[in-house]
Amino acid sequence: MTPASLFPFEPTVRIGLCENEPFGLAPHGKYSVEAAENQVFYLPLHADSFMEVKGLEIGRGFHWSQRRDLRFPGVIRLERDNDRSRLLNIVKAEEYLKMVVGSEMNPLAPPELIKAHAIISRSWLMRQLMRGGKSQRQAADTNPFIRYTESDAHIGYDVCNDDHCQRYQGLDAVTETSSAAVEATRGIVLTDVSSGSITDARFSKCCGGKSEIYSTCWGDKDFDSLQSVDDPYCAPDRLHRHDVSRLLKDYDALTDDYYRWRRVVPAALIAANIRNMFGVDVGGVISMKALRRGPSGRISLLKISGTDSEIEIGKELTIRRVLSDSHLYSSAFDIEKTDDGFTLTGHGWGHGVGLCQIGAAVMAAEGYSHEQILSHYYRNTQLSKLYD
Ligand SMILES: [Zn+2]
Ligand SMILES: [Zn+2]
Repeated sequence: MTPASLFPFEPTVRIGLCENEPFGLAPHGKYSVEAAENQVFYLPLHADSFMEVKGLEIGRGFHWSQRRDLRFPGVIRLERDNDRSRLLNIVKAEEYLKMVVGSEMNPLAPPELIKAHAIISRSWLMRQLMRGGKSQRQAADTNPFIRYTESDAHIGYDVCNDDHCQRYQGLDAVTETSSAAVEATRGIVLTDVSSGSITDARFSKCCGGKSEIYSTCWGDKDFDSLQSVDDPYCAPDRLHRHDVSRLLKDYDALTDDYYRWRRVVPAALIAANIRNMFGVDVGGVISMKALRRGPSGRISLLKISGTDSEIEIGKELTIRRVLSDSHLYSSAFDIEKTDDGFTLTGHGWGHGVGLCQIGAAVMAAEGYSHEQILSHYYRNTQLSKLYD
């Protein structure tokens, strides 16, 4: 079946707002309230009715997490059974995308960048809806220390409201530019030319000069659309030709070491992380060697040798976690032994597969269209309209 035949009309999206967390509900405008077994539905009677959800947590699990009062259009569904509760919001796909794009993007960013992001967000959303809540966990690997998650699904709803899926902060996040970008690209997704399926449009903060392929980070397969491409756009000297505060949403948190960086990692931290994550004691860590690297230089298999034993770990994100107390910027680094640890000299921020967010922002600032930005990072793809 072609993607367009799966979505002949604009679909609705079930967003999980919170599970087993406290919150308050304040309806604004007219609603009809219907109770069914363990469920309460709040159905808006006017297009401008909205529900204020008080004290909703955003940024869960991050140091900047906070509680906010947020406003949502559409249907609100409250589910309770025994001592569990779940709050869902149900809206049309395009409405969801306006709020997501507004939550993720700087409203002053070039319109072509916001359009490219709208198409990526829509492609991601349609793939989530097609999966219908099934997780794609890693296939069994002969090495139990090679770990990754291809994509994580929720049970009982399509997407959550946080960074785990895409940031969804309700009506207050909608901007004129996010609405315009979503409307200009209505129903359009990226598809792979060879298979006709919706592109798995991955993206990360900064590729570091060359993008990475899928198999370095996830399963042992690769796609025509996710090839390694040279990226001259994300270098700091190129970025700083433009007004960075307009291009990127979190520009104030951005230092130039996103592109080239250096970290000192104590040997004791590595040994402790291996013990905690894998239950293996390697003793004192003596050496580390990259056994396999992807085309961007990101390591997908790393051998760590200790006084007692050695271990081979992968893939990209697992390596970043083992070598840091949260996670390392990327797994593209050279290793130098020091007295009590290692100095890592690295490049890039994130997995580096697909679109490079900083590079795409610079391309848009330099006048490239959203079609040109998308075809630079996603090769052998085209734009396809799913519904009108
Ligand atoms: Zn999620
Ligand atoms: Zn890049």
